[in-house]
Amino acid sequence: MGGKVWLVGAGPGDPELLTLRAHRLLRAADAVVYDRLVSPAIRRLIPARARRIFAGKAPGHHVLKQEEICTLLRELAGRYRTVVRLKGGDPVLFGRGGEEAAYLRRHGIDCEVVPGITAGAAASLAGIPLTHRDHTQHVTFLTGHARADGEERIDWEALARLGGTLVIYMGLGTLPQVSARLLAAGLPGSTPAALLEQVSQPGQRCHVTRLDRLAEAARRLRFRSPTLIVIGSVVALAETQDERPAEELLLEEARAWHLPA
Ligand code: SAH
Repeated sequence: MGGKVWLVGAGPGDPELLTLRAHRLLRAADAVVYDRLVSPAIRRLIPARARRIFAGKAPGHHVLKQEEICTLLRELAGRYRTVVRLKGGDPVLFGRGGEEAAYLRRHGIDCEVVPGITAGAAASLAGIPLTHRDHTQHVTFLTGHARADGEERIDWEALARLGGTLVIYMGLGTLPQVSARLLAAGLPGSTPAALLEQVSQPGQRCHVTRLDRLAEAARRLRFRSPTLIVIGSVVALAETQDERPAEELLLEEARAWHLPA
């Protein structure tokens, strides 16, 4: 009888944002394979008796290749009863958890997903209500990181036409291109935009600006991964460290911008 692999979402970093199920499984784990996005505070919850394996993935240099992670999980399931594959945020949202689950099932290994709070949902911690009904009725989650095959799959014109709130994962590295594409596709330069770094963690930072200044702000203020990008008028509701409300700061930066009627 083989063990079971649990694909567990660790949420955005604060251990209090783990689900009860994630916490229970983590404490019961015989082996834990975790990513770079799993915060130090959550890593400390891994029991000392459990075997812990860092699966890495800093941008640019993979510690373990995806195939290697899959093979490793398969091997661990053969040796241990409870194997936890811990991933930042939700395990299958831009997390390749779907690929791992499919691989394990193909090889006859029992596998179950435990959802986690995705970084995008944690934008509410910065006071940004992604779908405030005076602003928008839809939100789009997208990645700024193209697949290795370089294929461009995002229809920027359609996104700009749709408007609403855009939440961009892994967008820091390609931010100059992403914002140029959105501007070229017709999104106004004055659209409010936010950079959210290390949401829910001790180093959390939120900077509010406008789309046409976003890439420059990220560079100047040295934003680092993990950073989430939120674009859309709801960003004007963000709580900034500045004493003045974001709305006022934006108005100062962009006189052209105003709340929709
Ligand atoms: N599965 C994860 C996303 C993985 S992609 C989730 O559901 O959240 C990695 C990207 O997620 C990062 O580049 C960043 O854009 C975002 N991200 C994850 N955790 C974050 C955090 N604590 N603060 C800001 N952005 C975060």
